[in-house]
This record gives sequence, structure tokens and C-alpha cells, in this order.
Amino acid sequence: MGARALAISDSYGGYRQRLVEQLQAKGIRDLAVLRAVSAVPRHLFVPDSVRHRAYEDSALPIASGQTISQPWVQARSLQELALTGREKVLEVGAGSGYQTALLSQLAFSVVAVERVPGLADAARTVIRDLGIRNVVIMVGDGTLGWRSLAPFDAIVVAAASPSVPEPLIEQLAEGGRMVIPVGDREEQTLIRVDKTAAGITQTPLSDVRFVPLLGELGWRDGG
Ligand code: SAH
Repeated sequence: MGARALAISDSYGGYRQRLVEQLQAKGIRDLAVLRAVSAVPRHLFVPDSVRHRAYEDSALPIASGQTISQPWVQARSLQELALTGREKVLEVGAGSGYQTALLSQLAFSVVAVERVPGLADAARTVIRDLGIRNVVIMVGDGTLGWRSLAPFDAIVVAAASPSVPEPLIEQLAEGGRMVIPVGDREEQTLIRVDKTAAGITQTPLSDVRFVPLLGELGWRDGG
């Protein structure tokens, strides 16, 4: 599947283009990823109070004390997944739904899991209004994956985990890839997990800072 038309007409196209150029300057080479960034209106996924900063390459606050990740980190994660447009992808931590929308442009279908119901509702509304139809957003604990819809050709985790949750490895298809930040609550390393017939390999990519993955196989307290 190629790029899908989004139901937008706005005056932010020039800003999006500048963000794309910044991402290119910082090493993002995957053309499909860059095309997705230029197609998805990030300003619709952030609160009004920070809308003027929507096309800066920075993380921004969203509701419920969460953050929409830095575009470079998201683009880097998506580039590592090397999606062709045929994959079924699991996203853990849908948050604002922005990365979910990027994934909708890069994969065949997207299952996104978010633990905060209010965030999931808001993300669903923006995604529906954009005319995106190959995405479902579930409310639940994504550290357990989403067993009834597994296996997934690719998995991307958008919150920091103390380790790679075993159900996510199980639910990754053979030949599949996962990108996940692993570390302590303050600092993590983004790693790529490859699952092959021969087993699992882990490749460190970059130092990152994400909000904590809270759940049965993530961080246990509510803090
Ligand atoms: N990709 C998002 C980033 C959101 S920040 C975006 O583009 O906006 C990480 C998100 O992970 C938060 O919304 C948080 O509520 C969610 N999260 C944390 N632990 C989770 C879990 N166990 N299952 C699902 N979502 C979780």
C-alpha cells in the first residue's frame, strides 16, 4: 500500500516541510518515514497551548501528564522497523495518536494500545477525523501485547520499560522487528529486537528519555 490521502487542508504545510528537513539533517533517510511526517498534521495531536510549537523537533506535553515524543525519536524508531506497507503493527503507548497516524501511512494495519482511556478517546477522534481507517486503538496494558490479534510483523513501544516484556517477544512474528526503550525511569537506550528462526538479537540504537511504561510487566507503581 502506498501513501494514503489524509483529510486535511491546512496552512501548516511549510512548517511540516521544515520539520522534514530537520529530520533529514539529523540522519533520517527512509523516504516513506519522511513522507509520513510531511503528511500527518502533528498540530492536531497536541493541546492548543503548545500548538505553535507542534513542528519543533521536541517532545511536548499532552493530557494526563504524558508527552508526545520528539519527532526525531519517533522517526528513528519507525526507520528501524523498515516497514514496506504490508505489515500488521502493534504500537504500545498510543498517547496522542501521532505516531499511530505515522504508522497508518507506513503499514497495512495498526493495533495501538493505550492505558489511559481519555488519551485513547482523544487519539481515536483525531485519527477518525483525518479519515484514517487502518488503525484500531485499544485501552489496556500494552506490556501484555494484544494476544487475540497477534502475531505482529513489527512492534513499537513508546514508553520506557525496565526490560523487554516477554509477551511482546512471543507476539512478534518470525522475521519481525521491535523497537523499545529499555533502562531505568530516567534514562534509557532505544533498542531494536530482531526475531529470527535462530533466535532473538538486540541492537542498541541511541540514548533516549521516555515516560515510564506502567503495567504488569513494566513499572508497577502509578508514579
Ligand atoms: N506515541 C505517543 C507517545 C505517548 S507517551 C505519541 O505519539 O503521542 C507514552 C504513552 O504510553 C502514554 O500515553 C502512556 O499513557 C502510555 N502507556 C504507559 N504505559 C502503558 C501500558 N502499559 N500500556 C499502554 N500504554 C501505556
